[in-house]
Amino acid sequence: MFKKKLLALFVLPLVAGGMFCAGEALAKTNCTGRERMRKIAVIGGSGVYSPDAVGGFAKKIVKTPYGEASCVVGTLYGNQVVFLNRHGTGHSVPPHLVNYRANIWALKKLGVEEILATAAVGSCNLKMKTGDFVICDQVLDFTNSRISTFYDGKDLPVAHADFSQPYCATLGKILQNCLQDMKVKYHSAGTMVVTQGPRFETPAEVKMYAMLGGDVINMTGMPEAILAKEAEMHYAAVAVVTNYGAGISKNPLSHQEVLEGMQKSEKEINVLIDKFLQWKGNVDKVCCCETTMANYGGFKV
Ligand SMILES: [Zn+2]
Repeated sequence: MFKKKLLALFVLPLVAGGMFCAGEALAKTNCTGRERMRKIAVIGGSGVYSPDAVGGFAKKIVKTPYGEASCVVGTLYGNQVVFLNRHGTGHSVPPHLVNYRANIWALKKLGVEEILATAAVGSCNLKMKTGDFVICDQVLDFTNSRISTFYDGKDLPVAHADFSQPYCATLGKILQNCLQDMKVKYHSAGTMVVTQGPRFETPAEVKMYAMLGGDVINMTGMPEAILAKEAEMHYAAVAVVTNYGAGISKNPLSHQEVLEGMQKSEKEINVLIDKFLQWKGNVDKVCCCETTMANYGGFKV
C-alpha cells in the first residue's frame, strides 16, 4: 500500500472529545490508543517532493486567513492522512518565507490532530552523526522576522502558550517504538537549533550553538512547532542528520550535500513514516497538547 513513490514523498498529533492531559484516562484520546481514526499530517522538508505519486490521494488547496496552503489528502491504513511540503513544489519557497501560519491553520481546518514533521539537519554534536535520527525534545529559536503566533491581538487575543514541552512527548514515544523496530541509529532526545537562513551558519555560530546545548540545526523548525502548539495539535519533529555544521565539517556546506545526505536516508525515513502512519499500539500519554490554550477558551478555526 505504501508504494515506493509514496516512500519518496518524505523526509518528517489529536484533539480528543474532552480535556485530557498527561496521566489521565486514554479511553477517548486517539493520541495513544487506537479507538478512533487517526488524523495525521506529515510535513516534509528538503528532499521530499513527490505528492503527485501518492495513489488515491488528491491535491487540496485550503484557504486560510493567512493565504492558501497546498496539501495532498487521502486515507492510509484506515487513517486520514495529509501530506504537506512546507517549501512548496520544487523547493520554491525559502525557509524564511514559508507561510507557516497558513500551513498549520490549514492542517487544523482539515481536522488534523497529529503532525509528524521531518527535517534535514546539520549536527553540532559529534555524537549525532550523518544518517542518525534524532527525536527532538527541545528547541533553541534563533529565527527573526517571522510571525510566530496566531495570537497577535487582532484575529485572536493576546495569549501566552506554555512551551515547556515544544514537541509532543507522546508522539515521541511512538517514534521511538518505530525506530527501535527499524534497528536504525537514533537519539531519543535532542535540542533543535532553528536559524533564520537561508544562508548556512558560520563556524562561530555552530560553536556557540553547541555551547548552548544545541544538537542539530535547521531553518524551518520554528515557528512551525509553536504554531502547532497554539493550534493544540500533537506535533513531533524527527530530524535526520545530513551533514556536520560549519567548522566541524572539513568542506564548505552546500544544499546539494544536504540533498545527498537526505537521499541516503530516504528509504529509512519513508519506512519510519510508514510505521508511524500504521501505528496501532498504545503508549502512555505524556502530553497536554490538545489543551494548550484552554485558559484562553481553546483554539478554534
Ligand atoms: Zn501531544
